[in-house]
Amino acid sequence: MATQITHHVGGKAFTGTSTRSAPVFNPATGEQTGTVTLASTADVNAAVDVALKAFPGWASTTPLRRARILNKFLRILEDRTDELAAVVSAEHGKVFSDAKGEVQRGIEVVEFATGAPQLLKGEITENVGTRVDSHAVRQPLGVVAGITPFNFPAMVPMWMFPVALAAGNCFILKPSERDPSASLLMARWLEEAGLPPGVFNVVHGDKEAVDALLHSPGISAISFVGSTPIARYIYETAARTGKRCQALGGAKNHMIIMPDADMDQAVDALMGAAYGSAGERCMAISVAVPVGRATADKLMAKLEPKVRALKIGPGTDPEAEMGPLVTKQHLDKVRGYIDAGVAEGAKLVVDGRPLKLQGYENGYFIGGTLFDNVTTDMKIYREEIFGPVLSVVRTESYDAAAKMINEHEFGNGTAIFTRDGDAAREFANQIQVGMVGINVPIPVPMAFHSFGGWKSSLFGDHHMHGPEGIRFYTRLKTITTRWPTGIRAGAEFVMPTMR
Ligand code: NAD
Repeated sequence: MATQITHHVGGKAFTGTSTRSAPVFNPATGEQTGTVTLASTADVNAAVDVALKAFPGWASTTPLRRARILNKFLRILEDRTDELAAVVSAEHGKVFSDAKGEVQRGIEVVEFATGAPQLLKGEITENVGTRVDSHAVRQPLGVVAGITPFNFPAMVPMWMFPVALAAGNCFILKPSERDPSASLLMARWLEEAGLPPGVFNVVHGDKEAVDALLHSPGISAISFVGSTPIARYIYETAARTGKRCQALGGAKNHMIIMPDADMDQAVDALMGAAYGSAGERCMAISVAVPVGRATADKLMAKLEPKVRALKIGPGTDPEAEMGPLVTKQHLDKVRGYIDAGVAEGAKLVVDGRPLKLQGYENGYFIGGTLFDNVTTDMKIYREEIFGPVLSVVRTESYDAAAKMINEHEFGNGTAIFTRDGDAAREFANQIQVGMVGINVPIPVPMAFHSFGGWKSSLFGDHHMHGPEGIRFYTRLKTITTRWPTGIRAGAEFVMPTMR
């Protein structure tokens, strides 16, 4: 029996008035496990009203008290990591150990947000003028919304809401309709930790719910993570409706392998970065760029047998290194890209398309796929595939490799594997990408730094979590104070100057 998945508003389940719904599947078996309600505009507006009512109380709760609630939530997450990871794995398909890693990276943002009293400290200048003081504080925005993708149903929401709540905002989460259940566990656990009802709400839905959030006058800011066309649409619409917005989009992440790199280390790094989570990570490496023919030949010789030996299975199999893709539709899309690569003349070294898993014939599995001799005009190079497909683009020089990366539409993450400090420094300094790894294949910043790409991988000014998250979820107020003993008699009609 498929479970009915409803919204969570004002501290309880909320069914709303919409009659629309969508199926939720177990990607390993293809079975429908749930039906998620898709909110109407009226349902979203009802949730926003609840959050607006909760806002004055939460905004005036002391940062220390907010931090203590987040601290309790943190302990619940630590105690119940397995429970949350199991829900993520069941609806997303990623292997259980990977799902635990995702939860852990989310926990780290909650840890960061428990520093609220320190993070929200303002600035003061005594005597900006004679007996005049100035201080600046950061205040919450109001009700803010998070719209999140399917690929990290626990971690990406946790990039957003712990920081937003710590800063005194109320939050409406619109998670992916493909794996909606993790968000509900987090909502219940936040309230178990002491969060007042209405401060954190979950509304499920699709375009209708997103558009309702974008047009609601009650929403002050939108955080979005997903594909680039939708990120661009969110950013442009939010600009028109007067909302602060950070919209993170898609990616095509390159890894340069220099002739002096430790090849075994580089190959191991590539395997995890290209095929982990079946390539459904915005920081996955999808293009390997060996510099020089000898480097390329050595790389291919070591890579090919490892790709063939990938252990693929359901998320519940502790031996599996890679699970299925999220939906049948996405499986068809990834297969289509492999067909296109072959048609465009790339050399298909390992073909994941024929894979069949006994007992899981209806699951959305595809094997690890490896292309050699990919060129920059090919669709499989230009577009984000978001599957376990690694393209190798051979280059003759470091300069050609760096130029290729700089000319790509996306600029989320990138890496270089080398022992040459000069090359690494030049790369870090010059490359037009937001997150850079030196012998680190997936350079996802820790919670106390900020996450975000450049170019078509991010629309907006602020990256997520860390200091940028605090700036995004607060606005600055500067107060200038003069006490009566400092006031000179008489009106002043000239522009005030501080003397
Ligand atoms: P998606 O863009 O399809 O969906 C993201 C969110 O937008 C979901 O909540 C969805 O319901 C909503 N949405 C979908 N279509 C919409 C429409 N027409 N109008 C309004 N809202 C709509 O993305 P996805 O397939 O869930 O996730 C994969 C994508 O997310 C990949 O492109 C990946 O690179 C990207 N991603 C980026 C980052 C990053 O940090 N840059 C992180 C994770 C994922």
